[in-house]
Amino acid sequence: MIECIFTIDYEIYGNGKGSLRQLVYEPARKLKELLDRTGMKAVMFVEAAELEKIEASGADPAIGEVKQQLRELYKERHEIALHIHPQWCDASYHNGKWCLNYSEYNLCTLPKKRIAEIVDGSIAYLRTMLAVPDFTPLSFRAGGWLLQPSRNAADILIERGVKIDSSVFRGGIRRWHKLDYRRAAKNEYFWKFRDDANVPDQNGSLLEIPIYTRMVPFWELVTLKRFILQQKGFSGAQTIKQKLCRFQDIARFRYPMKFDFCRMTVNELVRMVDTVIEEDQRDPSSFKPLVAIGHTKDLADLKTVESLLYYLEKQGIAISTFEEIYNKYKLWK
Ligand SMILES: [Zn+2]
Repeated sequence: MIECIFTIDYEIYGNGKGSLRQLVYEPARKLKELLDRTGMKAVMFVEAAELEKIEASGADPAIGEVKQQLRELYKERHEIALHIHPQWCDASYHNGKWCLNYSEYNLCTLPKKRIAEIVDGSIAYLRTMLAVPDFTPLSFRAGGWLLQPSRNAADILIERGVKIDSSVFRGGIRRWHKLDYRRAAKNEYFWKFRDDANVPDQNGSLLEIPIYTRMVPFWELVTLKRFILQQKGFSGAQTIKQKLCRFQDIARFRYPMKFDFCRMTVNELVRMVDTVIEEDQRDPSSFKPLVAIGHTKDLADLKTVESLLYYLEKQGIAISTFEEIYNKYKLWK
């Protein structure tokens, strides 16, 4: 049985350059219109640290509309989930430019006390924004997908009531940031973990429902659409060491292609859905949450998203939120 969880990272990723209206509010408005027509609900991974800083600095007049949009999405039962890029927590704004603190890029490598401060600050911001004093996000996605080393961050998230993480992309590697999800490549569609998000552990309390990926030969990732969007994410000069690490990450024959409705073409998306359908035909009894990812900043091609939604409906695949499937399938057991 397959259900698709349609997730979108609600943020200006990269170095913060650009306007909230153009890169967050408008794409989310168009996506919401599309979802409203079909009655589908999405998971909004709201980058709380970034929005909080933008609001505090007065850097972008559209912050009020963004907050209003998130309140509406919440009221209409889209899932508001937690996403954090910690480099924003100590960011400063000078002469129209953001200066981010890259020494805090990976939440998981920070001291436990600092992780708690950042998570608490972000949840508090969401509570104020939604005007729901006890709001607790069910799901979390780490900035840069970095949930390694996992234990400290996982413990803090669990203590705060978070139940699901969706940071892992099976087969992924980012050497510079010490992320290595290659070991998860053989895992099932979801698992509990404790010490390492890669490693299933029945005694763990956090549930990993990874972003769906398929290992493909590297040349399948070379498309014009992906190349254009990758240029948008470029966030500054890299050292030679960083470039070397990145080269090692990508210099392999097979590479994980994320189920990304902004970066993939319709044909790629359909092919990926078809491989999951084939798997499901061989093993129909196991539940297969198929997590799709997109970013408001990348959401230029709504036609492709519409085609994907239409294809999923035609195949009888429901679109759900983590909240819906968590309760329906009693995933905590
Ligand atoms: Zn992000």
